[in-house]
Amino acid sequence: MNNEEIVQAWAKTRGYRAAVGSVSLLEEVRSALQRRREAGEIEAGFYRENLDIFTYLDGVPLENPQSIILVAVPAPAHILSFVVGDKRIETILPPTYAGYRETFAEVRDDLAGALSGSGFRVELLNAPLKALGNRLGLLSYGRNNVGYIEGLGSYFQLVGLVSDMPFDKESMPPRSAETLLPRCRECRICAAACPTGAIDRERILLHAERCYTLFSESQRPIPENLKSPSPKCIIGCLRCQELCPENKGLLRHENAAVSFDAEETKAFLGMTPAKGGRAFDRAQAKFQELGLTEGLPVFRRNLKRLLRIHGVIS
Ligand code: SF4
Ligand code: SF4
Repeated sequence: MNNEEIVQAWAKTRGYRAAVGSVSLLEEVRSALQRRREAGEIEAGFYRENLDIFTYLDGVPLENPQSIILVAVPAPAHILSFVVGDKRIETILPPTYAGYRETFAEVRDDLAGALSGSGFRVELLNAPLKALGNRLGLLSYGRNNVGYIEGLGSYFQLVGLVSDMPFDKESMPPRSAETLLPRCRECRICAAACPTGAIDRERILLHAERCYTLFSESQRPIPENLKSPSPKCIIGCLRCQELCPENKGLLRHENAAVSFDAEETKAFLGMTPAKGGRAFDRAQAKFQELGLTEGLPVFRRNLKRLLRIHGVIS
C-alpha cells in the first residue's frame, strides 16, 4: 500500500471519509478567498472575523510539511435536556458542536498511530477546511454553503491535518474550481426555507453575515426581531439542512452526555447565585463535559431565547 492507500484504509475501518492532497493547495485556497474578498463577494467584517483567522502552515511543528489530509467524521445531532418547573425541555445541539475540539485531537492521534510504522507525523491544520475538502473532491457545496458528501449528507465534522508524508501530485489532482451539488442547479428548497435571506436564489455564495448560526454563536446581542429558523436548536440552525433532499433520512440523534435537572437549569440560566452554589458547580461541570467551543454565556442567552419562544419563561 502507498501512503494514501494507508490513509484511506484507516478511514474506511472507522466509517470516515478522507482525501489527501499537496500542501501547495493551501496557497491556492488562501488566494481564492482573498480574491473573493477583494471583489466584494465576501463581506469585510465576516472575512475579518471568520476567514482571516486561519494560520495555514504557520506554527505547524513539522520540518517538511508535504501533504494535507482532510477527514470527514460522521456527526449526529445531540438532544440536550433541561427541566423548568415540572417541564422537561429538549433542545438540539446540531452536529459537530459537542466535542468539536476533542474530535480534532482524537482523529490526529488515531491517524498518527496508524502511520507510526512509516515514520510520518501528522499535526492539526488551521485552514478553511470546507474549501480544501471541496478542491480535493471530498465534498461538494450546497447552495446553503454547507459541505455535502454522498451517504453522509452534510452531517459530518471535517478534521484537517498536515503531514510530512510525501504526496504524489499526479495521483489525485485537485479540482481547479469549486463544485456545487448537481441537484442545486434546479433546486431552491433551502433558499425558500431560510427566513433570514442568507441563501440567495441566484448567487451561489451564502450571505453568511445574515445566517442565524453566526448570530447564535456570537457573544454580541442577537437582534430582537431575528427569530431562530430552528426553534429547538440551542445554537446554530438546521433548517436548510433538514429540508435538503440530499440529507433525507441521514440525520441521527443521540442523547448528549449530560442533562440538566431543575436546579441545574436555574443555575445555567443564571437564576441562582453564581458562586458557592452546588447546583451552579454541577451545571458548570456538566457544561464543560459537553466540550463546546462557545462559552456558557452564549448558551445561557440562547436557552433564555428558546424558552421564551416556547412560552416556558417570560
Ligand atoms: S436544498 Fe436544494 S438547493 Fe439547497 S443545498 Fe439542498 S439540494 Fe442544494
Ligand atoms: S442555517 Fe438557518 S439561517 Fe443559516 S442559511 Fe440555513 S436556514 Fe438560513
